Amino acid sequence: MKPFKYLYGPVPSRRLGRSVGIDLVPFKICTYNCIYCQIGKTTQKTLARAEYVPVLEILEEVNRFLKEETSAIDYLSLAGSGEPTLHSGIRSIIEGIKKITSIPVAVITNGSLLYLEEVRQDLLEADVVLPSLDAVSPETFSKINRPDEGLSVKKVIEGLEKFRKIYKGQIWLEILFCRGVNDSEDELSIMKETIDRIQPDKIHLNTVVRPPSEKWVLPLHETEMEKIRDFLGEKAEMISGFNRHPSSALERDIKEEVLKILKRRPLSISDLSEGLGIPEEELDRHLKPLTQERKIQTRIFSGSVYYEIKS
Ligand code: SF4
Repeated sequence: MKPFKYLYGPVPSRRLGRSVGIDLVPFKICTYNCIYCQIGKTTQKTLARAEYVPVLEILEEVNRFLKEETSAIDYLSLAGSGEPTLHSGIRSIIEGIKKITSIPVAVITNGSLLYLEEVRQDLLEADVVLPSLDAVSPETFSKINRPDEGLSVKKVIEGLEKFRKIYKGQIWLEILFCRGVNDSEDELSIMKETIDRIQPDKIHLNTVVRPPSEKWVLPLHETEMEKIRDFLGEKAEMISGFNRHPSSALERDIKEEVLKILKRRPLSISDLSEGLGIPEEELDRHLKPLTQERKIQTRIFSGSVYYEIKS
């Protein structure tokens, strides 16, 4: 099977079942540079929309994938190595996919560009949109998301509210909590009021479970997450462990697959096993030589061992 350039997976996830990711922007172009980002620091922070990768090539890959893949897929997810709504052709991609398959399309976005009318219009045909909103006060927004200077949290929230008014599909809002950054009572109380205005269908609560972009960033404990869930009400559920930017590989050269997936972000052996569909014992046989060859290294985070590309 010829490798795919823009598609990865299927990746099993609690939010989207078995989903195939489609990478719409090269690593690592984003409107934010989140302190907890699992795939590394943003190298090109921008609000400029462009056809970062050719629409036709993406649709050709989706077509080929659908012909080659025989197992059931729950979602085709537009996400990847940065912010997918920066791709100016996202509407053509969604519409193009809809013409060739009935598999639902999900957009995993940081929601920052929804203040633009064109972006709101572009996403209308998606079946589910999963925006994030980690902060509602300007200070916390700057601290956690480190946005492009042309963005303000007011703009982001207004964009989400406007999108809710015109979008008929599901909105699953994700909040990722970092200890001592966006978990204060004040922040949570304004967050609750803001969410009431945005009216998402679900609220997904996440915390830092994989090595973050900044080493000082820490997760919340499960009991603290439960308290927040109870405070935010019945739409809220915990999804800790969900990868906002998941990745996997379709090729069968296991060492190559491991290196490719680790280039995106550090992973534990169970993540690798889940993402690549390979038993941990088998993976272990490949991880050891890769470590000895000094291609990868281990790093301890929150008591767990993660593998990453050797720096
Ligand atoms: S977590 Fe997502 S939104 Fe935040 S910097 Fe990483 S790619 Fe961008």
